[in-house]
Amino acid sequence: MEFSQFSVNTLMEITSRPDLVFVRGQGSWLEDHAGKRYLDFIQGWAVNALGHSAPEMQRAIIEQSSQLMNPSPAFYNVPSLQLAKRLTQASIFDRVFFANSGAEANEGAIKLARKWGRVHRNGAYKIITMNHSFHGRTLATMSASGKAGWDTMFAPQVDGFPKATLNDLESVRALIDAQTVAIMLEPVQGEGGVLPATQEFMQGLRALADEHGLLLIVDEVQTGMGRTGTMFAYQQFGVEPDIMTLGKGIGGGVPLAALMARESASVFSHGEQGGTYNGNPLCTAVGVAVFDVLAGDGFMASVNQRAQQLSEGLQMLADKYGLPGERGMGLLRALCLDGDYGPALVEAARVQEPNGLLLNAPRPNLLRFMPALNVSEADTQTMLEQLDALIQQVRD
Ligand SMILES: *Cc1c(COP(=O)(O)O)cnc(C)c1O
Repeated sequence: MEFSQFSVNTLMEITSRPDLVFVRGQGSWLEDHAGKRYLDFIQGWAVNALGHSAPEMQRAIIEQSSQLMNPSPAFYNVPSLQLAKRLTQASIFDRVFFANSGAEANEGAIKLARKWGRVHRNGAYKIITMNHSFHGRTLATMSASGKAGWDTMFAPQVDGFPKATLNDLESVRALIDAQTVAIMLEPVQGEGGVLPATQEFMQGLRALADEHGLLLIVDEVQTGMGRTGTMFAYQQFGVEPDIMTLGKGIGGGVPLAALMARESASVFSHGEQGGTYNGNPLCTAVGVAVFDVLAGDGFMASVNQRAQQLSEGLQMLADKYGLPGERGMGLLRALCLDGDYGPALVEAARVQEPNGLLLNAPRPNLLRFMPALNVSEADTQTMLEQLDALIQQVRD
Protein backbone atom coordinates (compact mmCIF):
# COMPACT_ATOMS: atom_id res chain seq x y z
CA MET A 1 0.00 0.00 0.00
CA GLU A 2 1.30 3.46 -0.95
CA PHE A 3 0.77 6.38 1.43
CA SER A 4 -0.61 8.47 -1.45
CA GLN A 5 -3.55 6.03 -1.78
CA PHE A 6 -4.99 7.26 1.51
CA SER A 7 -7.05 10.47 1.42
CA VAL A 8 -5.76 12.00 4.62
CA ASN A 9 -7.40 15.35 3.88
CA THR A 10 -10.79 13.94 4.88
CA LEU A 11 -9.66 14.27 8.52
CA MET A 12 -9.62 17.59 10.35
CA GLU A 13 -6.08 18.87 10.51
CA ILE A 14 -5.52 19.07 14.27
CA THR A 15 -1.86 18.15 14.46
CA SER A 16 1.06 17.46 12.14
CA ARG A 17 1.24 13.74 11.45
CA PRO A 18 4.03 11.84 9.68
CA ASP A 19 3.31 10.28 6.27
CA LEU A 20 2.56 6.80 7.54
CA VAL A 21 -0.54 4.83 8.49
CA PHE A 22 -0.34 2.19 11.20
CA VAL A 23 -2.12 -1.06 10.37
CA ARG A 24 -1.02 -3.52 13.07
CA GLY A 25 0.37 -3.66 16.60
CA GLN A 26 1.68 -6.40 18.83
CA GLY A 27 3.16 -5.82 22.27
CA SER A 28 5.84 -3.15 22.01
CA TRP A 29 5.87 -3.16 18.21
CA LEU A 30 3.83 -1.36 15.54
CA GLU A 31 3.74 -1.92 11.79
CA ASP A 32 2.87 0.69 9.15
CA HIS A 33 1.19 0.52 5.71
CA ALA A 34 4.50 -0.29 4.03
CA GLY A 35 5.36 -3.12 6.45
CA LYS A 36 8.00 -1.14 8.36
CA ARG A 37 8.18 -1.98 12.08
CA TYR A 38 8.56 0.45 14.97
CA LEU A 39 9.56 -0.10 18.58
CA ASP A 40 6.92 1.88 20.46
CA PHE A 41 8.03 3.80 23.56
CA ILE A 42 4.98 6.08 23.40
CA GLN A 43 2.18 3.46 23.51
CA GLY A 44 -0.65 5.81 22.69
CA TRP A 45 0.75 8.33 25.18
CA ALA A 46 1.01 5.97 28.18
CA VAL A 47 -2.32 4.36 27.33
CA ASN A 48 -1.50 0.79 26.24
CA ALA A 49 -0.46 -0.54 29.62
CA LEU A 50 -0.14 -4.09 28.24
CA GLY A 51 1.16 -3.08 24.80
CA HIS A 52 -0.68 -3.40 21.52
CA SER A 53 -3.45 -5.98 21.13
CA ALA A 54 -2.80 -7.76 24.42
CA PRO A 55 -4.35 -11.27 24.33
CA GLU A 56 -6.14 -10.67 27.66
CA MET A 57 -7.86 -7.63 26.15
CA GLN A 58 -8.76 -9.44 22.93
CA ARG A 59 -10.37 -12.22 24.95
CA ALA A 60 -12.35 -9.76 27.05
CA ILE A 61 -13.59 -7.91 23.96
CA ILE A 62 -14.65 -11.09 22.18
CA GLU A 63 -16.35 -12.61 25.21
CA GLN A 64 -18.10 -9.44 26.34
CA SER A 65 -19.19 -8.41 22.85
CA SER A 66 -20.97 -11.72 22.49
CA GLN A 67 -22.72 -11.22 25.86
CA LEU A 68 -23.73 -7.58 26.20
CA MET A 69 -22.34 -4.30 24.93
CA ASN A 70 -24.63 -1.49 26.00
CA PRO A 71 -27.72 -1.84 28.20
CA SER A 72 -27.48 1.93 29.08
CA PRO A 73 -25.99 3.46 32.22
CA ALA A 74 -29.53 3.66 33.59
CA PHE A 75 -29.12 -0.05 34.47
CA TYR A 76 -26.45 -2.05 36.32
CA ASN A 77 -24.16 -4.36 34.34
CA VAL A 78 -21.73 -7.01 35.58
CA PRO A 79 -18.30 -5.81 34.29
CA SER A 80 -18.75 -2.24 35.60
CA LEU A 81 -19.60 -3.62 39.06
CA GLN A 82 -16.62 -5.97 38.91
CA LEU A 83 -14.24 -3.19 37.95
CA ALA A 84 -15.65 -0.77 40.53
CA LYS A 85 -15.14 -3.41 43.22
CA ARG A 86 -11.52 -3.97 42.16
CA LEU A 87 -10.71 -0.26 42.03
CA THR A 88 -12.26 0.53 45.41
CA GLN A 89 -10.58 -2.48 47.05
CA ALA A 90 -7.20 -1.48 45.63
CA SER A 91 -7.46 2.13 46.79
CA ILE A 92 -8.76 4.30 49.65
CA PHE A 93 -11.75 5.40 47.55
CA ASP A 94 -15.30 4.18 48.09
CA ARG A 95 -17.18 5.16 44.92
CA VAL A 96 -16.56 5.18 41.17
CA PHE A 97 -18.11 6.97 38.23
CA PHE A 98 -16.89 5.58 34.91
CA ALA A 99 -16.22 7.97 32.03
CA ASN A 100 -14.85 7.70 28.50
CA SER A 101 -11.79 9.95 28.64
CA GLY A 102 -9.47 11.55 31.14
CA ALA A 103 -10.88 14.97 30.38
CA GLU A 104 -14.40 13.74 31.09
CA ALA A 105 -13.29 12.18 34.38
CA ASN A 106 -11.61 15.47 35.38
CA GLU A 107 -14.67 17.44 34.29
CA GLY A 108 -16.59 15.17 36.69
CA ALA A 109 -14.07 15.82 39.49
CA ILE A 110 -14.51 19.57 39.00
CA LYS A 111 -18.31 19.24 39.13
CA LEU A 112 -18.10 17.01 42.21
CA ALA A 113 -15.86 19.52 44.02
CA ARG A 114 -18.22 22.38 43.13
CA LYS A 115 -21.19 20.38 44.38
CA TRP A 116 -19.31 19.61 47.59
CA GLY A 117 -18.61 23.33 47.96
CA ARG A 118 -22.29 24.09 47.58
CA VAL A 119 -23.24 21.53 50.22
CA HIS A 120 -20.41 22.00 52.72
CA ARG A 121 -18.60 25.27 52.04
CA ASN A 122 -21.21 27.93 51.41
CA GLY A 123 -20.88 27.83 47.61
CA ALA A 124 -17.07 27.86 47.42
CA TYR A 125 -16.09 26.81 43.89
CA LYS A 126 -12.47 27.73 43.14
CA ILE A 127 -10.04 24.90 42.50
CA ILE A 128 -6.35 25.73 42.78
CA THR A 129 -4.38 24.01 40.01
CA MET A 130 -0.72 24.13 38.96
CA ASN A 131 1.19 26.01 36.30
CA HIS A 132 2.22 23.68 33.44
CA SER A 133 -0.41 21.13 34.49
CA PHE A 134 -2.50 19.22 31.95
CA HIS A 135 -6.03 18.08 32.75
CA GLY A 136 -7.65 17.67 29.32
CA ARG A 137 -9.17 19.46 26.36
CA THR A 138 -12.74 20.29 27.32
CA LEU A 139 -13.35 23.96 28.10
CA ALA A 140 -13.29 23.45 31.89
CA THR A 141 -10.28 21.13 31.87
CA MET A 142 -8.37 23.47 29.52
CA SER A 143 -9.14 26.24 32.00
CA ALA A 144 -7.90 24.05 34.84
CA SER A 145 -4.72 23.27 32.90
CA GLY A 146 -1.68 25.49 33.28
CA LYS A 147 -0.40 25.19 29.73
CA ALA A 148 1.04 28.39 28.28
CA GLY A 149 -1.38 30.07 25.87
CA TRP A 150 -4.40 28.02 26.89
CA ASP A 151 -5.85 30.86 28.97
CA THR A 152 -6.69 32.85 25.83
CA MET A 153 -7.12 30.14 23.17
CA PHE A 154 -10.89 29.75 23.53
CA ALA A 155 -11.62 32.77 25.69
CA PRO A 156 -13.49 33.30 27.86
CA GLN A 157 -12.19 30.56 30.12
CA VAL A 158 -14.27 28.70 32.66
CA ASP A 159 -13.82 30.76 35.83
CA GLY A 160 -12.31 29.58 39.10
CA PHE A 161 -8.93 27.93 38.49
CA PRO A 162 -6.20 30.07 40.11
CA LYS A 163 -2.71 28.70 39.33
CA ALA A 164 0.00 27.89 41.84
CA THR A 165 3.52 26.54 41.33
CA LEU A 166 4.28 22.83 41.70
CA ASN A 167 6.40 22.07 44.78
CA ASP A 168 5.91 25.58 46.19
CA LEU A 169 3.50 25.24 49.10
CA GLU A 170 3.47 28.97 49.85
CA SER A 171 2.26 29.69 46.30
CA VAL A 172 -0.76 27.49 47.04
CA ARG A 173 -1.40 28.96 50.48
CA ALA A 174 -1.34 32.48 49.03
CA LEU A 175 -4.24 31.65 46.67
CA ILE A 176 -6.64 30.26 49.28
CA ASP A 177 -9.68 32.42 50.01
CA ALA A 178 -13.28 31.94 51.15
CA GLN A 179 -14.27 30.76 47.65
CA THR A 180 -11.62 28.00 47.47
CA VAL A 181 -12.99 24.47 47.56
CA ALA A 182 -10.17 22.22 46.34
CA ILE A 183 -6.57 21.75 45.25
CA MET A 184 -6.02 19.62 42.15
CA LEU A 185 -2.75 18.29 40.74
CA GLU A 186 -0.97 15.50 38.88
CA PRO A 187 1.38 13.54 41.20
CA VAL A 188 3.82 13.69 38.26
CA GLN A 189 3.21 16.40 35.66
CA GLY A 190 3.24 14.33 32.46
CA GLU A 191 2.68 16.71 29.55
CA GLY A 192 4.50 19.37 31.56
CA GLY A 193 7.73 17.37 31.25
CA VAL A 194 7.63 14.47 33.74
CA LEU A 195 7.97 16.64 36.84
CA PRO A 196 7.19 14.72 40.05
CA ALA A 197 5.63 16.48 43.02
CA THR A 198 7.82 16.12 46.09
CA GLN A 199 6.64 14.08 49.05
CA GLU A 200 6.96 17.18 51.22
CA PHE A 201 4.75 19.19 48.84
CA MET A 202 2.04 16.50 48.63
CA GLN A 203 1.95 16.10 52.40
CA GLY A 204 1.95 19.88 52.78
CA LEU A 205 -1.06 20.09 50.44
CA ARG A 206 -2.92 17.51 52.48
CA ALA A 207 -2.25 19.46 55.67
CA LEU A 208 -3.22 22.73 54.00
CA ALA A 209 -6.43 21.19 52.67
CA ASP A 210 -7.29 19.85 56.15
CA GLU A 211 -6.52 23.20 57.76
CA HIS A 212 -8.84 25.09 55.39
CA GLY A 213 -11.49 22.42 54.81
CA LEU A 214 -10.58 21.83 51.15
CA LEU A 215 -10.64 18.73 48.97
CA LEU A 216 -7.41 17.27 47.60
CA ILE A 217 -7.88 15.97 44.05
CA VAL A 218 -5.22 13.90 42.27
CA ASP A 219 -5.36 13.62 38.49
CA GLU A 220 -3.89 10.16 37.98
CA VAL A 221 -4.99 9.86 34.37
CA GLN A 222 -1.34 9.38 33.38
CA THR A 223 0.23 8.21 36.66
CA GLY A 224 -2.42 5.69 37.73
CA MET A 225 -2.78 1.98 36.88
CA GLY A 226 0.77 0.90 37.64
CA ARG A 227 2.54 3.50 35.51
CA THR A 228 4.67 4.80 38.38
CA GLY A 229 5.44 1.40 39.93
CA THR A 230 2.51 1.19 42.35
CA MET A 231 -1.13 0.77 41.33
CA PHE A 232 -1.69 4.48 42.03
CA ALA A 233 0.98 7.16 42.39
CA TYR A 234 -0.57 8.76 45.49
CA GLN A 235 0.37 5.59 47.40
CA GLN A 236 4.02 6.62 47.21
CA PHE A 237 3.47 10.03 48.78
CA GLY A 238 2.01 9.06 52.14
CA VAL A 239 -1.18 11.05 51.56
CA GLU A 240 -4.86 10.19 51.24
CA PRO A 241 -6.58 12.35 48.62
CA ASP A 242 -10.36 12.86 48.59
CA ILE A 243 -10.87 12.47 44.85
CA MET A 244 -8.85 10.72 42.13
CA THR A 245 -9.29 10.50 38.38
CA LEU A 246 -8.03 7.68 36.17
CA GLY A 247 -7.80 7.30 32.40
CA LYS A 248 -5.25 6.15 29.85
CA GLY A 249 -3.94 2.82 31.24
CA ILE A 250 -7.23 1.86 32.90
CA GLY A 251 -8.63 0.74 29.54
CA GLY A 252 -5.28 -0.35 28.12
CA GLY A 253 -6.27 1.23 24.77
CA VAL A 254 -10.07 1.26 24.79
CA PRO A 255 -11.86 4.46 25.84
CA LEU A 256 -12.32 4.16 29.59
CA ALA A 257 -11.73 6.51 32.51
CA ALA A 258 -12.89 6.83 36.10
CA LEU A 259 -13.72 9.41 38.72
CA MET A 260 -13.22 8.04 42.23
CA ALA A 261 -14.13 9.63 45.55
CA ARG A 262 -14.20 8.84 49.23
CA GLU A 263 -17.66 8.46 50.68
CA SER A 264 -17.52 11.92 52.28
CA ALA A 265 -16.90 13.54 48.88
CA SER A 266 -19.43 11.48 46.88
CA VAL A 267 -22.10 14.15 46.88
CA PHE A 268 -23.74 13.92 43.44
CA SER A 269 -27.53 13.77 43.48
CA HIS A 270 -29.61 12.10 40.81
CA GLY A 271 -29.43 13.95 37.51
CA GLU A 272 -26.18 15.81 38.17
CA GLN A 273 -23.78 13.42 36.44
CA GLY A 274 -24.09 10.91 33.64
CA GLY A 275 -23.26 10.12 30.02
CA THR A 276 -24.49 7.74 27.34
CA TYR A 277 -21.50 5.39 27.44
CA ASN A 278 -20.42 5.60 31.07
CA GLY A 279 -19.59 2.22 32.53
CA ASN A 280 -20.56 0.33 29.39
CA PRO A 281 -19.84 -3.38 29.79
CA LEU A 282 -17.63 -3.65 26.69
CA CYS A 283 -15.04 -1.16 27.93
CA THR A 284 -15.28 -2.05 31.62
CA ALA A 285 -14.82 -5.75 30.77
CA VAL A 286 -11.52 -4.75 29.16
CA GLY A 287 -10.77 -2.70 32.28
CA VAL A 288 -11.27 -5.81 34.43
CA ALA A 289 -8.91 -7.81 32.19
CA VAL A 290 -6.24 -5.09 32.33
CA PHE A 291 -6.62 -4.66 36.09
CA ASP A 292 -6.23 -8.38 36.73
CA VAL A 293 -2.95 -8.45 34.82
CA LEU A 294 -1.61 -5.42 36.72
CA ALA A 295 -2.69 -6.90 40.06
CA GLY A 296 -1.26 -10.32 39.19
CA ASP A 297 1.63 -11.95 41.06
CA GLY A 298 4.94 -10.30 40.30
CA PHE A 299 3.62 -7.87 37.68
CA MET A 300 4.38 -4.69 39.58
CA ALA A 301 7.78 -6.07 40.59
CA SER A 302 8.63 -6.49 36.91
CA VAL A 303 7.43 -2.94 36.18
CA ASN A 304 9.87 -1.72 38.80
CA GLN A 305 12.70 -3.83 37.36
CA ARG A 306 12.11 -2.33 33.90
CA ALA A 307 11.88 1.12 35.45
CA GLN A 308 15.24 0.64 37.11
CA GLN A 309 16.76 -0.62 33.86
CA LEU A 310 15.36 2.37 31.95
CA SER A 311 16.39 4.85 34.63
CA GLU A 312 19.95 3.51 34.83
CA GLY A 313 20.26 3.32 31.04
CA LEU A 314 19.10 6.90 30.61
CA GLN A 315 21.43 8.08 33.38
CA MET A 316 24.34 6.35 31.61
CA LEU A 317 23.50 8.25 28.43
CA ALA A 318 23.26 11.47 30.42
CA ASP A 319 26.72 10.80 31.89
CA LYS A 320 28.20 9.78 28.54
CA TYR A 321 27.04 12.93 26.73
CA GLY A 322 27.08 15.36 29.65
CA LEU A 323 23.30 15.83 29.61
CA PRO A 324 21.45 17.34 32.59
CA GLY A 325 20.03 13.96 33.69
CA GLU A 326 16.96 11.76 33.84
CA ARG A 327 13.92 11.76 36.12
CA GLY A 328 10.47 10.30 36.65
CA MET A 329 8.64 7.60 38.56
CA GLY A 330 8.29 3.99 37.43
CA LEU A 331 7.84 3.70 33.67
CA LEU A 332 7.05 7.39 33.22
CA ARG A 333 10.50 8.87 32.70
CA ALA A 334 12.27 11.71 30.95
CA LEU A 335 15.75 12.37 29.64
CA CYS A 336 16.73 16.03 29.83
CA LEU A 337 18.76 17.22 26.85
CA ASP A 338 21.39 19.95 26.64
CA GLY A 339 19.64 21.71 23.76
CA ASP A 340 16.37 21.96 21.86
CA TYR A 341 17.04 18.92 19.68
CA GLY A 342 14.24 16.73 21.12
CA PRO A 343 12.01 17.03 18.02
CA ALA A 344 15.00 16.26 15.76
CA LEU A 345 15.71 13.13 17.82
CA VAL A 346 12.06 12.04 17.62
CA GLU A 347 12.13 12.46 13.82
CA ALA A 348 15.47 10.70 13.35
CA ALA A 349 14.29 7.80 15.56
CA ARG A 350 11.11 7.33 13.55
CA VAL A 351 12.68 7.40 10.09
CA GLN A 352 15.68 5.18 10.88
CA GLU A 353 15.95 1.87 8.98
CA PRO A 354 15.25 -0.97 9.07
CA ASN A 355 13.17 -0.49 12.24
CA GLY A 356 11.85 2.82 13.49
CA LEU A 357 11.65 3.89 17.12
CA LEU A 358 8.74 5.96 18.48
CA LEU A 359 9.72 8.56 21.05
CA ASN A 360 8.04 11.72 22.36
CA ALA A 361 9.40 15.19 23.16
CA PRO A 362 6.80 17.06 25.24
CA ARG A 363 9.33 19.92 25.44
CA PRO A 364 12.07 20.66 22.89
CA ASN A 365 14.81 19.86 25.41
CA LEU A 366 13.28 16.70 26.85
CA LEU A 367 12.35 13.16 25.79
CA ARG A 368 9.54 11.31 27.55
CA PHE A 369 9.41 7.50 27.81
CA MET A 370 6.14 5.66 28.47
CA PRO A 371 6.55 2.09 27.21
CA ALA A 372 4.10 -0.75 27.78
CA LEU A 373 4.29 -1.79 31.43
CA ASN A 374 5.18 -5.30 30.22
CA VAL A 375 7.94 -4.11 27.87
CA SER A 376 10.70 -6.72 27.72
CA GLU A 377 14.24 -6.32 29.02
CA ALA A 378 15.53 -6.91 25.47
CA ASP A 379 13.29 -4.24 23.89
CA THR A 380 14.30 -1.77 26.60
CA GLN A 381 17.95 -2.53 25.89
CA THR A 382 17.36 -2.11 22.13
CA MET A 383 15.74 1.27 22.71
CA LEU A 384 18.65 2.46 24.87
CA GLU A 385 21.23 1.35 22.28
CA GLN A 386 19.36 3.01 19.44
CA LEU A 387 18.94 6.18 21.49
CA ASP A 388 22.70 6.25 22.12
CA ALA A 389 23.39 6.15 18.38
CA LEU A 390 20.67 8.73 17.67
CA ILE A 391 21.98 11.21 20.22
CA GLN A 392 25.41 10.90 18.66
CA GLN A 393 23.93 11.38 15.17
CA VAL A 394 21.68 14.35 16.01
CA ARG A 395 24.09 16.26 18.29
CA ASP A 396 26.90 16.22 15.70
C1 LIG B 1 -3.98 12.55 29.03
C2 LIG B 1 -4.33 13.30 30.28
C3 LIG B 1 -5.60 13.87 30.48
C4 LIG B 1 -6.65 13.85 29.40
O1 LIG B 1 -7.09 12.58 29.09
P1 LIG B 1 -7.94 12.35 27.74
O2 LIG B 1 -8.32 10.92 27.79
O3 LIG B 1 -7.03 12.70 26.61
O4 LIG B 1 -9.10 13.27 27.78
C5 LIG B 1 -5.87 14.46 31.68
N1 LIG B 1 -4.94 14.52 32.66
C6 LIG B 1 -3.72 14.00 32.51
C7 LIG B 1 -2.75 14.07 33.65
C8 LIG B 1 -3.36 13.38 31.32
O5 LIG B 1 -2.13 12.89 31.16
